[in-house]
Formats: sequence, structure tokens, C-alpha cells
Amino acid sequence: MIVFALVTLGTFILMEGITWCTHKYVMHGFGWFLHEDHHQPGYPHVFEKNDAFFIVFAIPSMMLFFFGIRPELNFLFFIGLGILCYGVAYFLIHDVLIHRRFKWFDKTDNWYFKALRKAHKIHHKNMGKHESQCFGMLYVPMKYFKEYLK
Ligand SMILES: [Zn+2]
Ligand SMILES: [Zn+2]
Ligand SMILES: [Zn+2]
Repeated sequence: MIVFALVTLGTFILMEGITWCTHKYVMHGFGWFLHEDHHQPGYPHVFEKNDAFFIVFAIPSMMLFFFGIRPELNFLFFIGLGILCYGVAYFLIHDVLIHRRFKWFDKTDNWYFKALRKAHKIHHKNMGKHESQCFGMLYVPMKYFKEYLK
């Protein structure tokens, strides 16, 4: 059982790396037409084209759930679970906490969240396709923490 938990945890961590690469090379590359509206200030629409990336990641996750219980529960299910958990965390942190699409955690004052928000604001400061930095989501470079840990 511990192996399954480790598979889920490992997938979760790996997803941050995959997201970093996808964000840098796909969203800010040939997928820019989908990500562009996310770099416009404010949220004029309920949904953005950027949300298409959630569907892109939901497909492998659903397939892993499908094959992860056939013929019996196996490790594929736990890889799918890791992807799902990451998707939920990504949505809560990026869309709700950072961009405040929903006003759920407006009163959070945690240093980790403050650093996350700061790093992502730096990413959004660059409206262009190429000059951005801080592509990660849950991983924040140390320098952003130092400011809040003093
Ligand atoms: Zn971006
Ligand atoms: Zn939009
Ligand atoms: Zn963003």
C-alpha cells in the first residue's frame, strides 16, 4: 500500500516539473494562442481559453483511472490519482488563491502563499510570449521566500 501512496506522491511532484515545461515550452510556445488571454489583466470571462489545458491533463488521468482498475486495482490508478490531485491543487492555488477567480481564501496570510502569489505576479508582469520567468506553480524560487521569512 505504501508503494501506491509513493506512486501518487511521486506523480504529484513530477507533475510540477511537467507543468513547468508545458508552461514554458507549450503555453509560451505554440500553445500561446490558448494561454494569451491568461496574460491579460483581470478576469472578464468566467472561462478562459487557458482552461483548455485542464482538459489536456484530464484525458491521460481518466485513461489511467480506466486501466488502473482493469483487471484489478493497479499502480496506473495511483498515477491517475496523482495527476488529479495536482490538477485540483493547481486550480486551488493558481486560479483561486493567486488569481482570485473565486473569493474562497481571501483572508490567507500564510508566508508560503504570499511567496507563491509574488512569484506568479512576476510571471504575469510580462505580457509577452517570450520574456517570462517563474513558470512553476507550487515550486517557488528561494528568493521569494526569503522576503517573507525575515
Ligand atoms: Zn504564462
Ligand atoms: Zn478571457
Ligand atoms: Zn496565472
